Amino acid sequence: MRDCCASESSCESKIHIAIVGTGSGAFAAAIRAVEEGALVTLIEGGEVIGGTCVNVGCVPSKIMIRSAHIAHLQTSHAFDGISIHQPQINRAKLVQQQQARVEELRQAKYESILDNHPDIELIRGWASFENAHTLVVKQPDGSAMRLTQDRILLATGASAAIPDISGLAQSPFWTSTEALVAEKESGRLLGAQVLAGEGGEIIQTAALAIRNRMTIHELADQLFPYLTMVESIKLCAQTFTKDVKQLSCCAG
Ligand SMILES: Cc1cc2nc3c(=O)[nH]c(=O)nc-3n(C[C@H](O)[C@H](O)[C@H](O)COP(=O)(O)OP(=O)(O)OC[C@H]3O[C@@H](n4cnc5c(N)ncnc54)[C@H](O)[C@@H]3O)c2cc1C
Repeated sequence: MRDCCASESSCESKIHIAIVGTGSGAFAAAIRAVEEGALVTLIEGGEVIGGTCVNVGCVPSKIMIRSAHIAHLQTSHAFDGISIHQPQINRAKLVQQQQARVEELRQAKYESILDNHPDIELIRGWASFENAHTLVVKQPDGSAMRLTQDRILLATGASAAIPDISGLAQSPFWTSTEALVAEKESGRLLGAQVLAGEGGEIIQTAALAIRNRMTIHELADQLFPYLTMVESIKLCAQTFTKDVKQLSCCAG
């Protein structure tokens, strides 16, 4: 347990706050609470601290989005003096660099805060409530720790909702977490969202494309004989594969 209080009495006079989670929400609250004179215990069940944003959210996704944009610009830009060419992409190296940056930021923005704030301590394990003021933390070694606090803040974030689809659990499906560290691209169409009353045929085409395991390249090359709304999903696929500035609205 913490030994940060100058004396037992000063420790007792401070308000004790448990925060479940160690994401950006938890840390923002913890820093504010200790600034106001509280003692904070953070509880994290996951393997690393930092939660979604730094580990599997904002940070790794923006690194991949930025690198994809730079690769795209090599094939498509407006400057005659810069040659256009197909990018050479090494996804394994991209993932390695992305993960190195994730670790660096986790250290700078989260772990270093624990090092520098003696009034914030970390307990590892999954928390559940025993009563309104007491948490039971199941620790990695299997033991249960009981923690009674003046206040308890839940900063447990969210996780991907896995739909209850028969057979899904047996197939190697991805959530955004797996997609972010994939070292090979699948080219598979993962889903489609349509915001229009007339969207039925688009949904049907998307469903058929997904069911038939079409790649976005195959979908982009499909010939639709009539100009229907389905063309729009083909145009979407083409935005992944072609320089869409060259296309007219109904170009095939
Ligand atoms: C791919 C992706 C990209 C994103 N990009 C952006 C973006 O660009 N900009 C943006 O603003 N937001 C973005 N977000 C959303 C953002 O990451 C989250 O909204 C934010 O990180 C949530 O922070 P949080 O502190 O509430 O929870 P989290 O960061 O999710 O932390 C919750 C923590 O609580 C722990 N926990 C849960 N239950 C328990 C328990 N019972 N006991 C112990 N520990 C527990 C979890 O292990 C986790 O570490 C993105 C999310 C994803 C998935």
